[in-house]
Amino acid sequence: MPSFVIAEKCDGCKAQDKTACKYICPNDLMTLNRDIMKAFNQEPEQCWECYNCVKICPQQAIEVRAYQDFAPLGGNVIPMRGTDSIMWTIKFRNGSLKRFKFPIRTTTEGGIDIYGGKPEPDISKIKQPGYFTHQGAGKAMPTLK
Ligand code: SF4
Ligand code: SF4
Repeated sequence: MPSFVIAEKCDGCKAQDKTACKYICPNDLMTLNRDIMKAFNQEPEQCWECYNCVKICPQQAIEVRAYQDFAPLGGNVIPMRGTDSIMWTIKFRNGSLKRFKFPIRTTTEGGIDIYGGKPEPDISKIKQPGYFTHQGAGKAMPTLK
């Protein structure tokens, strides 16, 4: 089930150039109807339920209506973003709640050194199957027989 914007809560990110949900969606699905200043998912069938838009929305205006195996009918998964963590509230269909806190990354935008600590690529092994990280761990590259 895709993301769903609760229109009453969405304020269109106060008419900024790019809304938070539009900025964060890895699949470029969220867009803003500027006539009414409400966001919506323009291609719901392409949503992979990553929850990025849910987590970033400053108004808590987005829900993902999750698969029923982990959020059965009537259940809900609601993130509340803090400065260093997200508090997740899991609401079960019998009304009971569970909460857990998960730390968020605090690296500045663009500040990640994605190859930091990784070995230089070994071109001689480029045709061998295996994973880049296997080399870093000092493990032998797997070979097909
Ligand atoms: S991030 Fe939230 S408040 Fe901002 S436009 Fe998207 S749904 Fe609306
Ligand atoms: S849940 Fe993820 S893929 Fe779906 S609209 Fe939100 S950010 Fe995009």
